[in-house]
Amino acid sequence: MRDMDSLAHLLWHNGNFLGIEWNVWKAVGWGGNAAFFSRFMVQWYASERRKRVVVPAAFWWLSLAGSWMILSYAVFYRRDSVFIFANAFNWIPYLRNLMIHRRTEAARQTCPACGALAHAEDNFCARCGAALRPPAAA
Ligand SMILES: [Zn+2]
Repeated sequence: MRDMDSLAHLLWHNGNFLGIEWNVWKAVGWGGNAAFFSRFMVQWYASERRKRVVVPAAFWWLSLAGSWMILSYAVFYRRDSVFIFANAFNWIPYLRNLMIHRRTEAARQTCPACGALAHAEDNFCARCGAALRPPAAA
């Protein structure tokens, strides 16, 4: 019973959840923090799963969402020039990486032997080792 009281006190402090004075912009700012934090988990999981360093599209989507949420918080709530500048441009490479990712995915080729998807620049299938046809010269 005493442990439950301690936990409740930790969560609700001075009448505020986690001791934070909540409003819509605080929720947007903390949502941005959550997106930024979760992107590392997503990237780590993807790399562990494939046993090599992988940066999935979800990492860039979470980066883009997180940076825009924190930028909105900085512009509309904090109105702090240092905070705004720190978050004003970092979304540009996130957006660009998503564009490049989409282009790379669209250019994938199918292995004629086993049907596995391979990158456009691959010469051999990673699954069965069959030779892949180079993309038709333009
Ligand atoms: Zn194959």
